Amino acid sequence: MKVVVLSGGVGGGRFLLGVREYFGGTDAEITAIVNVGDDMWLTGVRIAPDLDSIMYSLAGVNDTERGWGRAGESERVSAELRAYGVGWPWFTLGDLDLGTHLTRTHYLREGLGLAEATRRITARWPLGVTLLPATDAEVETQVVTAEGIMHFQEWWTRHRAAIPALGFEYRGAPDSQPAPGVLEAIAGADLILIAPSNPVVSIAPILAIPGVREAIRGASAPVVGISPIIAGAVVRGMAEACLTAIGVETSASAVALHYGSRASGGILDAWLVDSVDAGVVDVIEGAGIRAVAVPLWMTDPATTAEIVRAAIAVAAEPV
Ligand code: GDP
Ligand code: CA
Repeated sequence: MKVVVLSGGVGGGRFLLGVREYFGGTDAEITAIVNVGDDMWLTGVRIAPDLDSIMYSLAGVNDTERGWGRAGESERVSAELRAYGVGWPWFTLGDLDLGTHLTRTHYLREGLGLAEATRRITARWPLGVTLLPATDAEVETQVVTAEGIMHFQEWWTRHRAAIPALGFEYRGAPDSQPAPGVLEAIAGADLILIAPSNPVVSIAPILAIPGVREAIRGASAPVVGISPIIAGAVVRGMAEACLTAIGVETSASAVALHYGSRASGGILDAWLVDSVDAGVVDVIEGAGIRAVAVPLWMTDPATTAEIVRAAIAVAAEPV
């Protein structure tokens, strides 16, 4: 069984823990196609927050209390960078995390692509999941605001998404290509899952890479998405500000309709909503997307594995 998961960072990482748990002990091959829109150059190093969040989660070295970065992190280097006045004072680079960034930058400067750099970096830990960046190209999400265009990280981390976003641009996407292995993974998959990641700044930048959306639309595997919205609210984070900016209501059904049915130009065959959103199942099915309501809180890997079980069940239902 070959499973492909489209994923952002923290939410996607949490979901992948459940995917790995569900398939534990089987010979399933799990591949995550990961957003790179949050990536950037800062103080001379290439930072890839979503790839790293997933890697740290799957390796069990993430900081579960803070919700991001490495456990047991220190920030001595960051303090020195601040004293020199370089970097972004509001964007802390942990010392352990910098080890990852330096390693990635080392490989990139040797001429390797991000996918190969990621393969070498992740080889350190038995993750049980292959991490593929969506592209080797530098595709960065930019946020258009009345105060100008800024990198997604600046809008999200510095301004806490408080400046109204007028739109999002995936800079570099039109000229980019999927990373080696991405289209092959999609075409060879038995099941494609859209993680309950931010639709606008995690999943959309992946779909913006020319060829990816088409590959998903043409895949022989069923495509099942999991709602990141429960009871009209984002479960964790500030994704509502992103959805509002692109004119999509913050609801489980609106996000499903935004992704759309594969039968009518979209990417979904089926969509999972939380039990509390059972009332919108009919609306989603009316749009040609099979829908079921099950608990969608990813409290721990075992609970999240039940979401995966439900996704497989709905994928197997006759159309
Ligand atoms: P990021 O790249 O670190 O922002 O992470 P993602 O984009 O992968 O995931 C962020 C999204 O995960 C948020 O917008 C939440 O709506 C969603 N999310 C977080 N926790 C849960 C959960 O327990 N259940 C569900 N259904 N969604 C969740
Ligand atoms: Ca992210």
